[in-house]
Amino acid sequence: MRLSRSFLPTLKENPAEAQITSHRLMLRAGMIRQTSAGIYAWLPAGLRVLENIAGIVRDEQDAAGAQEVLMPTMQSAELWKRSGRYDDYGPEMLRIRDRHERDMLFGPTNEEMITDIFGQVVKSYKELPQVLYQIQWKFRDEVRPRFGVMRGREFYMKDGYSFDLDTASAVDTYRRMMLAYLRTFQRLGVRAIPMRADTGPIGGELSHEFLILAPTGESGVFFDSALEDQDWLAENVDINDRASLEKFFTRMTSFYAATDEMHDKKAWAEVPADRQREGRGIEVGHIFNFGRKYTQSMDIAVSGPDGAPLYPEMGSYGIGVSRLVAAIIEASHDENGIIWPESVAPFKAVIINLKNGDAQCDALCDQLYGAAPKALLYDDRAERAGAKFADADLMGHPWQLIVGPRGAKEGKVEVKNRRTGERTEETLEGALALIAKLQG
Ligand code: ATP
Ligand code: MG
Repeated sequence: MRLSRSFLPTLKENPAEAQITSHRLMLRAGMIRQTSAGIYAWLPAGLRVLENIAGIVRDEQDAAGAQEVLMPTMQSAELWKRSGRYDDYGPEMLRIRDRHERDMLFGPTNEEMITDIFGQVVKSYKELPQVLYQIQWKFRDEVRPRFGVMRGREFYMKDGYSFDLDTASAVDTYRRMMLAYLRTFQRLGVRAIPMRADTGPIGGELSHEFLILAPTGESGVFFDSALEDQDWLAENVDINDRASLEKFFTRMTSFYAATDEMHDKKAWAEVPADRQREGRGIEVGHIFNFGRKYTQSMDIAVSGPDGAPLYPEMGSYGIGVSRLVAAIIEASHDENGIIWPESVAPFKAVIINLKNGDAQCDALCDQLYGAAPKALLYDDRAERAGAKFADADLMGHPWQLIVGPRGAKEGKVEVKNRRTGERTEETLEGALALIAKLQG
């Protein structure tokens, strides 16, 4: 994309309404604009990041055997009356009446809808297990929407739902999802730690929240530092092998990790003092097994081996895709701006032309840009160098390819790594090889 013709409205000043770094940087980097309280429009750079995150989430869900569907945002109140949640959900649910006076709602989550669809399709235990997911907008009328897309009212979520014949199979599915989540966050370039979460009236141990550590996180967290090194925890696990998954899960959950609400002082005291870590975290995912709650209340049964009706066991698995955009920034920035992990960056690299209109600079930049116009941002504006450098750091492109008159004369490009600040001088071939690698 050519910056001179793009819709990337960067701001020099900090917007007054933004209280936390990620919100400030998303506004300043031209990623989003607020349209009303807790509701945002995604501009080109923001949308690219959102879609990149969704793409990785999708990839890992597919690898775990989940199948993608797309359900509507608008739901009928009737569905929610069947599970009994229509009255229980409270003011976070946005309730709407259509022209025929029918009660509708903008979905805050989709357990009821997916259970109903499942029931229309699956009739026999032989068709189990099934794991379905979607990536779709949700609406929750939060009392205090804040911190930009971190706690919005309309937000983008991956929500998955599983149906299993029995508890053993449901546990298997749960473990598979936990591994898929770790792999997802690893690929997103962040470390999210799974922590035991409250299972409410259903009980049991199968609920975990995934939190990214950041000082601005809304939850206090306590965890064993062994969980920081997830490479070894998730190493050599075969996602399709039950015994391998069990070993992984047992190891992962043997280390202490809890949010404020679930903190157990006695268990905490048993963690070796040099491994105790306390801090704050941002919830970016939540996995939950809730047994037969919805299949039973909505009377969705399949026929079992002996012909008798059986209520499948369910689980649900959420990832806050739009919240992740902000959470990644909270975990990866410096005083100059965002530092995007390569996997989610809106552009893999920016080409900075230091002297627009100089024949040699323009020619060299065109050659670089032509190699991958979709993956690159070309700063071809008639701005001074300082402004270009500042915007490049602000927007957080992993690589900067800097072309000035002196280098251009010798066919040389200065390459800067945004994260390390390291600079090297490359030939045109060297720079093109880097671009090819980034596109990989
Ligand atoms: P929270 O405790 O932060 O309110 P939740 O427990 O209500 O979240 P879930 O129902 O578990 O959220 O939803 C799954 C995921 O969706 C969460 O882990 C979070 O990442 C994301 N999410 C939930 N509410 C919001 C929101 N208002 N804005 C952005 N993302 C959200
Ligand atoms: Mg939650």
